[in-house]
Order: sequence, then C-alpha cells, then structure tokens
Amino acid sequence: MALSRAQGILDELKALFGPRALLSRPEREVYRYDAIREGATPLAVVLPESTAEVQALVRLSRRYRVPLVPRGAGSGLSGGAVPLGEALVVAFTRMDRLKVDPHTQTAWAEPGVTTARVSEAARPFGLFYPPDPASYRTSTLGGNLAENAGGPLCFKYGVTGDYVLELEWVDALGEVQRLGRDAYDLPGLLIGSEGTLGLIAGARLRLLPLPRHRATLMALFPGVEALAEAVSRAIALGAVPARLEFMDRSAVSAVEDYLGVGLPRDRALLLAETDGDDRELVEEELSLVERTALELGAEVRRARDEGEAEALWRARRAVSPALGRLRPKRLNEDIAVPRSALPRVVREIEALGRAYGLLVVQFGHIGDGNLHPNILFDPLRESEERAWELAHEIARVALRHGGVLSGEHGIGLMKRPFLEEALDPGTLTALRALKEALDPEGLLNPGKVLP
Ligand SMILES: Cc1cc2nc3c(=O)[nH]c(=O)nc-3n(C[C@H](O)[C@H](O)[C@H](O)COP(=O)(O)OP(=O)(O)OC[C@H]3O[C@@H](n4cnc5c(N)ncnc54)[C@H](O)[C@@H]3O)c2cc1C
Repeated sequence: MALSRAQGILDELKALFGPRALLSRPEREVYRYDAIREGATPLAVVLPESTAEVQALVRLSRRYRVPLVPRGAGSGLSGGAVPLGEALVVAFTRMDRLKVDPHTQTAWAEPGVTTARVSEAARPFGLFYPPDPASYRTSTLGGNLAENAGGPLCFKYGVTGDYVLELEWVDALGEVQRLGRDAYDLPGLLIGSEGTLGLIAGARLRLLPLPRHRATLMALFPGVEALAEAVSRAIALGAVPARLEFMDRSAVSAVEDYLGVGLPRDRALLLAETDGDDRELVEEELSLVERTALELGAEVRRARDEGEAEALWRARRAVSPALGRLRPKRLNEDIAVPRSALPRVVREIEALGRAYGLLVVQFGHIGDGNLHPNILFDPLRESEERAWELAHEIARVALRHGGVLSGEHGIGLMKRPFLEEALDPGTLTALRALKEALDPEGLLNPGKVLP
C-alpha cells in the first residue's frame, strides 16, 4: 500500500473517530494475534462505540478498498481475528451495552459484552444465558456469535445460535440490518460466519429460568475408551445431562500437577452434571450415568454439595492453563464425531500421537462428540510442521468417521486448508456464491474460512 494512501486512511480515521478510537503503534502489535495464530500488524485498530461508527468504517473501507478484520477478545482458536496483509482491525470491546428484560426473558447485548456478563446480569431475575464457552470470562458475544460458540452446557441447552432471537449487523455496503428469524433466516447465515459476511452490532438473546437443582458426579475410568462407551450407553438409555466433560489420563495428570487436588494420574475422568426443577428426576438422571460408569469399571464419586461440585468443575476449567505448563506451544484441535464413533476415534488419535512422537492430550464436551485433541510441542526440539501434519491427520480421522472439521472453534485460518477435503465441490461453490453475494468486494475478513 503506497504510503500516501495509508496516510490518507489514517488521517481520515482520525477525523472520523478522534484519537480515542485509534491505537498507537506498539498497542497495535497485540492485534496481530488471537489465542493460536500470528498475523500481520494492522494498519490501524479502530474501536467503534456505536453501530453508526461501524457503518462509517465500512464505508471508508470500501472507498479505500482496505479490508476489515472484526475482533472481540481475540480468544479465538482458529486464527479468525488475525489480520493478513494490510487491514483495519475493528475491535468491538467498547460496544458493550447490555440490557436484560426480565418480562420477556430476553437481553439486548452489543458485541463487546463478555459472555459471563450476560448470565451475571440475568441471575438477579432468576434467569441465565446457557452458552458457556470455557473462555466465557474473556470472550465476547460478537466472537461467540461469529463462531457459533458452544460450551459444556451445549449438550442439553444448545449453542450460541440457539439463543438468538434477533440480530443486528452492518453489511458490506455499510447498511444496518436488524432482522428476526421468522422468514428467511438471515441471522442464521451470519451466525458462525466468522466475520466474513457482516459485522455483528447487537443481538436480542433468549434467557432461560435458572434450574432449581443440580447434581454432579466424577467417574474415573481405566481409559478413555471405556469412558466414551459409558457416555454412549447412558445417552442411549435416555440421560440428557446438562454437562458431560471428559479428560484423558494426560490431561488429568497435567491438572493434578497444576492444582494438586488428589486426582489419580492413571485414570481418565468424566464429569457429569444433571439439572432441572424436580430434585428426584435430576438425581435419577445422574444415576443412569453412574450405573453405566460402574458397569464399565469406573470408580464414581458424587459431589455432596455445591462446594464439592464447584471443586470438580474447577479441575475441568484448569485444563488449559495446566497444559500450558507441559510444552511451550500447542495446537488446539477441535473435531466433532458421531457419539457411537467416539471410542474408535479416541483410540485412533492416541495411536497417531504415538506414531508422530508428539504429546497429544484429549479432553472436551464428550456428550456432543466434540473432542479437543491438543498437540503439545516444544518448537526448539520438535518440528512445528509435523505438529500441523498431525493436526491434519486428526481432522481426517474425524471426516473418516462421519464427523466434521470443527465442533465449535470455527474454520478461520487453521482449518481453511482442510475444507476442500471436508466439503463436496457443489457445497463449496454454493458457499463461494454466498460470500460473493454478501461481500462482493471481498473486504470482510478476507483469507478466512473459504480456501
Ligand atoms: C482457554 C480457552 C477456552 C475456550 N473454550 C471454548 C469453548 O468451550 N467453546 C468454544 O466454542 N470456544 C472456546 N474457545 C474459543 C473462543 O473463546 C471462542 O471461539 C470465542 O467465541 C471467541 O470470542 P472472542 O470474543 O475472543 O472472538 P475473537 O477471537 O476476537 O474473534 C473470533 C472470530 O469472530 C469474528 N468476530 C468477532 N467479533 C465480531 C463481530 N462483532 N462481528 C463479526 N465477526 C466478529 C472474528 O473476526 C473472528 O473470526 C476457547 C478459547 C480459549 C483460549
């Protein structure tokens, strides 16, 4: 980009937004990264405070033909928020107005609101917002909507898109769209589109009454295969736990190193939680999980109270920081497979890790068949290229077993090279036509999702 043109863009941004909305050079460096990938330093980082400012930005981007990269908290795990080449990052963190309406059991939220804030604001009214990515304290609704994020509760309650009643976004022409989902479900197209079809500026979200009772157990299995089999059997018997999370032996051992709470390092761990308003039903449903776990050789511990349950969930939330201590780098894979295929998939991924000589740790939302095999490596001793090859092999395992490339983290940059293997040519052509129709100049988050 010629210097004078770049200067022209910066001058115009300053005139439009004032210095408060633009970041200085060293601060801009941070915006090269999300939680997994590094990109280029953005030409500018703009922090709009209103939908009108987002519109102004889109119009400027069209005039100068400079791409826009939307960004929430940068906690994404597929490289979606990192700029490629010269681009303007649109950081939504200052658009963080939130209003809960207890009468309609809804909330209106701007994209920069953090996920946790929605449930915290709803709780005094006896309500909650179910989508709960493990990053919920930092991730934003804009990022959650753009990735259609899930979380432990999604087995029973569904993912982010299931809670959207109405969506507001700024399209590629700079026009504001505010639509419900009754006729053509255009909001449904934007949800999960990873910033490539429009800039999300707000959403009306459905809230649910807080369940009155919860019951939690931890089951310790000799291996992940037996654990996956127990989960499949319990669900086949009709159990619909709110949360079903698993950690393999390496994950358990890493958490034990980190927290020192007495977890047995040679066991795979399942955490199950049931909830509802009828205490007996809640306990009965948990008993289904308990029975199948015992049948498959697990040792089961039920939490006696909220405090014990919280301690168990703390162990699950500690997986990410605990793994960070094992090796300096990791690739956080994210696949989803039919539940019946889980035992075989887990076994094949373990074997692949051994064949590549790389440490692979598996955990995830096992109720949905959503696994996060993490490839951990030390770039000084181990080849990063081989780690990426292994990631590709893991994606192939998912596809071979009728699964999908991404359970919840999105395609972004990380899975983009695998998309051609995952989709048939007709589907890819349809997706390209859609992108062309909604973003004809290709200025919205270019280089992401579509190969
Ligand atoms: C420790 C850890 C745990 C995690 N656990 C989970 C989990 O359990 N479940 C899960 O689903 N994910 C999880 N994630 C991944 C990540 O937190 C989610 O994808 C989250 O939705 C990203 O939100 P963000 O605000 O950080 O978005 P960013 O990373 O900033 O952006 C993500 C994508 O959204 C786009 N985007 C952001 N804002 C907008 C907007 N307003 N309009 C249009 N596009 C936009 C960006 O361009 C990018 O493509 C985890 C990440 C970490 C680091």
